[in-house]
Amino acid sequence: MGEDPASKVYVANKKKACEYIGINSFEYKLPEETTEEEVIELINKLNNDNTVSGILCQLPVPKHINEEAIINAIDPKKDVDAFHPINVGKIMTGNYDFVPCTPAGVMELIKESGIDVTGKECVVVGRSNIVGKPMSMLLLHQNGTVTVCHSKTKDLKAKTKSADILVAAVGIPNFITGDMIKEGAVVIDVGINRIAPKTLVGDVEFDTAKEVAGAITPVPGGVGPMTIAMLMKNTLKAAEVNKTV
Ligand code: NAD
Repeated sequence: MGEDPASKVYVANKKKACEYIGINSFEYKLPEETTEEEVIELINKLNNDNTVSGILCQLPVPKHINEEAIINAIDPKKDVDAFHPINVGKIMTGNYDFVPCTPAGVMELIKESGIDVTGKECVVVGRSNIVGKPMSMLLLHQNGTVTVCHSKTKDLKAKTKSADILVAAVGIPNFITGDMIKEGAVVIDVGINRIAPKTLVGDVEFDTAKEVAGAITPVPGGVGPMTIAMLMKNTLKAAEVNKTV
């Protein structure tokens, strides 16, 4: 919906991934002035379409639309972003079909790198519904000892410096610097910040952080592609759940 430039890039990349692995994708580009009722009508149509396994609404939505109403309208069984309250609740209990794509991508990176989360001090900087909060739950499910930091956290540096696994999801370019990181820590940078037309940087200052970190993800090219891979995984899962393939 609307003209958000970052959303256009994300949607294009998601479509490309679908094509690459053989999932049919259908894009509905809605003009800025679309009403909430019209969006919900479209979602209902897709909810009832047996040839559609998964639905996502690329956020952010224009200001006159209630984001929560849109998320709530998506059938939880087709909610491949896992933002619907039913799926959020399932993540709390640990019995879930869909995991929000970005935190799921982070967990996959950790697993594939052979890093055991059990007993580790895990610090998540950021408490958004789409990254920070579900991220902390997933680390907890893997037996990490999790601290969630946010804009009101006091002495952030003391917290980040205690982390064996540090996840930055703040949205401020180069916010976490090398001196805030413990020697040998695993540093995962979720941030995507456009600081010039063709320059993306993360929330972690890569050059100083890489000198102290034991492992670190780059931006671009780290968590971003994993997010899309996890969206594909959720969509496959949705096809199984809905038996649409
Ligand atoms: P958000 O703006 O919803 O949340 C940011 C969080 O950072 C908030 O919880 C806030 O409390 C915290 N914060 C802000 N200032 C702080 C400070 N000074 N100290 C400590 N905490 C502070 O953002 P979001 O949607 O969670 O996204 C975070 C970043 O991740 C953004 O750069 C976004 O573009 C990126 N992102 C990347 C992907 C991906 O696929 N890699 C997906 C989603 C978001």
